[in-house]
This record gives sequence, C-alpha cells and structure tokens, in this order.
Amino acid sequence: MSKPRIHILALGGTIATRPDATGAMQMGLGADDLVAAVPRLAALAEVAAETVSRVGSHSLSFDQIHALAAKIRALEVDGVVVTQGTDTLEETGFLLDLLLDLDIPVVVTAAMRNPALTSPDGPGNLLAAVRVACDPWMRRHARALGVMAVMLDEVYAVADVQKAHPTRLDAFVAPQTGPLAALVEDRVVPMSLPVRDAIVAARPRFASLSAATQPVALFWISLDEPGRVLEALIEAPDHLGYRGVVLGAMGGGHLPERMSGTAGRLAGILPTVVSPRAGGGPMLRHTYGGPSSEIAVREAGLIWGGRLHPLKARVLLETCLRAGLDRAAIGEVFDGWG
Ligand code: ASP
Repeated sequence: MSKPRIHILALGGTIATRPDATGAMQMGLGADDLVAAVPRLAALAEVAAETVSRVGSHSLSFDQIHALAAKIRALEVDGVVVTQGTDTLEETGFLLDLLLDLDIPVVVTAAMRNPALTSPDGPGNLLAAVRVACDPWMRRHARALGVMAVMLDEVYAVADVQKAHPTRLDAFVAPQTGPLAALVEDRVVPMSLPVRDAIVAARPRFASLSAATQPVALFWISLDEPGRVLEALIEAPDHLGYRGVVLGAMGGGHLPERMSGTAGRLAGILPTVVSPRAGGGPMLRHTYGGPSSEIAVREAGLIWGGRLHPLKARVLLETCLRAGLDRAAIGEVFDGWG
C-alpha cells in the first residue's frame, strides 16, 4: 500500500532555531532540516518539506496565515503539518481552522525546548504530528476534527487549545474540553470529536474576505479599571485605525461599574466583543442584574463572545470584519459559541 503524502510547511519558531556565535537562539532551520532530524518520517509517509518563512510566531501576521491557508488549499496531498512557534499557535491555528474546510488532516505543531538543549521536543512533536496526519481514523474524521494541534503526544482541537505556560514542556492545554486523542506506543488513540457547529455555521459568511487586515484591539479588564484607554480610542481620529475591540471581561461577562458607560459608548462606535478573561466560557447571559453586570453589558450593545478565549475572539472578530459583516451579523456569528 502506498504511503500517505504529507506536506510539511515550516514557518519558524523555536523548533526551527539554532544558536548564533553568542549562544542566542536565532531563527534559521528550514523544513528540510526539521525533516532530516527525524529519519523515521520516511517510513511513515511520502514527505515533502517546504520552508514558508523563518520567523518567530510572535511576529507572524494575519496576512501570512491567510497566505498559508491559500497555499494549503492548493496542495494535492493526504495531510498537512505546519511547524511554527508556540507563542501564537492558538491564534494562527484557530484562524486556519476558520479558513480551511478540508477533508485531509491539517496539524499544527511546535516545540518548547530548542534544538540546542538536551531533549528538545521538536523532533518528537514533528514525528507525532505526521503520525496523526497519517492515521486512518484521523484521516476518516478529518473534516469533523478540523485543524489540530499536536504537542507532547496529545492531540487538541486547535479551536480549544491554549498555551498556558511560557516555558514548561507541557505548556498546552484545552481546559474546556481536554485532548481529542493521545499517542501511545505505535497507536493514535482517539478519545473525542470536537463540537464545531459554530465554525461550520460561520464559514459561508467568510466566503469572500477582504485582503486588508482589520486591526482589532484587545483589552484585559482588571480591578478598578477606569477605562481611559477606551475613552482615548473613542475620541482619537479614526479611532487609531482600529475596526473592532475585544474586552477580556471579568467572570461571566462583568465590567467595573466606573468604565461600563465608556464600554457602552465604544460598542456604539466599533463592534465590541466581551469574552471571558478567565480564559474560556461559556459566560452568563441573564443571571446578575445591576450596573455593569452581564444583563446591563449586553443591553448596552456589546457582542457576547460565548466560550471563546479573548485571543480567539479577536481572531474571529478580525475575520468577521474582513468579511464585511455588520454588527448584527457579527453578533449572530459569535452567538454560535454559546
Ligand atoms: N517565540 C517563539 C515563537 O513563538 C517561541 C516558540 O516557538 O515556542 O516563535
């Protein structure tokens, strides 16, 4: 039987670093280097390796991920593995998931420990990602699974994954749902399928997207926040070029009372999404009364981010804005997330 054709696209990140003369790790390795470090790949798949960029994921852009999605769509292969940095994997992966509707596995992987350290995790993660992309169950359920993240022998729906630690090896978690599968011995053991109705329902609205980035500001709302940056944003010419705002709100969707009027004014000017700063939802809709509780915040016109982490809410809002959706349509898209 012929081996699956797996296309590896390397963007950069710790997995692709090498030390410079001072010992500092610099972007440098390409896709061929990553593949050469894992000789076992050849036994699993017909591997093609392509270096897309050599940048840290902290410097990637929305436009680069749109270009990557177009590249993936054009491939005639049985599976795709993207290697990149860990810093923004939860955002870039989610954007790919919004943009791609494919019946082949698309897996994103990365590394926490760089290649100069003892026991770097990059080669093992790349091998695991290719094993997932080749796995018959994963291939059979690829459309239902959506884009996946593979780290440390666990498989996550990228729509649910978060980077929860800046340096630990086990930095990735999916607190709301847990992993979809685990790699054990020579097996990929499936455990669940993700709930992706909101993504599937939103996709037709994303059929035609502007090529222009739509800047979305993200504010983490904290104790006694006076809201002066939001006021400055409202007053600034062209609102500093921002087209939308995400507020990482407290608890089930609450804001400090002293800034809630400002948030309401902002929502009248720019699409403004409330998303849980706790990292995931769902949030409340009609439990607490009183000023700046979720009932008041919703009545003030803020869009409900549902269970989406603020980072993912920002990615979704940027996509909605590229699609030219108005406030009502954006609200309908976000409603799918509960
Ligand atoms: N700053 C790096 C990046 O995101 C970190 C990593 O790869 O883990 O590219």
